[in-house]
Amino acid sequence: MRFTALLALLFVFACNSTSQSTVATSGDSATAVPDMPDYRYDPPAEAGAVVPIDTPDTYWKELLTDEEYNILREDGTERSFTSPLNDIKAAGVFACRACGLPLFDSSTKFESGTGWPSFYQPIDPAYVTEESDNRYGMQRTEVSCARCGGHQGHIFPDGPAPTGLRYCINGAALNFVPEADL
Ligand SMILES: [Zn+2]
Repeated sequence: MRFTALLALLFVFACNSTSQSTVATSGDSATAVPDMPDYRYDPPAEAGAVVPIDTPDTYWKELLTDEEYNILREDGTERSFTSPLNDIKAAGVFACRACGLPLFDSSTKFESGTGWPSFYQPIDPAYVTEESDNRYGMQRTEVSCARCGGHQGHIFPDGPAPTGLRYCINGAALNFVPEADL
């Protein structure tokens, strides 16, 4: 009986420590880990102006699932044809799953046949960063979220008009935000 009560107490403490934990963000003030809805959506205060953040790994470890953390913070890649975002064709935006920055509009999404969500351009070039990635014997261009630095995927020069580019993105690195919620 006492043991059960102790377990219950521990559980309560564990829950509290999760919901009340704080981490430092790029600013001086600590920010509580927010209670997130199904998606994270946090456009910049001024359109086109992204303020980079340098958030500690402990924050992302707590906020993200293991798979999301592996992709966004450790440059992982999800298995193709596994993301539910592959099938989304509705109007809306795809935002960084870590920080909520809107990265891609569904009007630029196309069916690439690769099994990863594919877009021909970002919402704003300032919202992504591009960097040469020569790992694994391949010459690729890595694309990341310009605010939190979260790895999104790679860019390939075989996309459709008007850009001819294919932003091949991990679905687990994105949230879909329906147009009605923008
Ligand atoms: Zn981000």
